[in-house]
Amino acid sequence: MYCPNCHRLFEEDVCPECGALGRRPKEDDYCLMSRREAIWAGMLADVLKQEGIECIQESEEGAAMRTLIGTGLGYTLTYVPYSDLERADALEEALFNAEAVVTDDAEGGEEDSERDPDDMEQKAALDPGPASDPEE
Ligand SMILES: [Zn+2]
Repeated sequence: MYCPNCHRLFEEDVCPECGALGRRPKEDDYCLMSRREAIWAGMLADVLKQEGIECIQESEEGAAMRTLIGTGLGYTLTYVPYSDLERADALEEALFNAEAVVTDDAEGGEEDSERDPDDMEQKAALDPGPASDPEE
């Protein structure tokens, strides 16, 4: 369902954010797809525009959610039409996965316990998986 007040999609019948009764989303309903720091939101908007997806962005500070900010970092909310939501989600994922690899480059290697984006790949590589012997 879709909440026209919060521009959110959710599974329930009633908006978990404001309690309003949701309705089925229409193609041109703008949906909240992303909440990012302003600099990343700007990059996201560029990518979306390149793909011909129209997006609306607003500062979260205007959205009366100051308790969530607290840190002084301004967050930007990005909305895209429902019809473009899936594509926009995929683009965002691709964009920020790529960014994570570049920016999360911790040199020194003293803190191995840090979350490592390669961890899952390494596990897969370590497990050759010859579990299925035909016979002996
Ligand atoms: Zn709502």
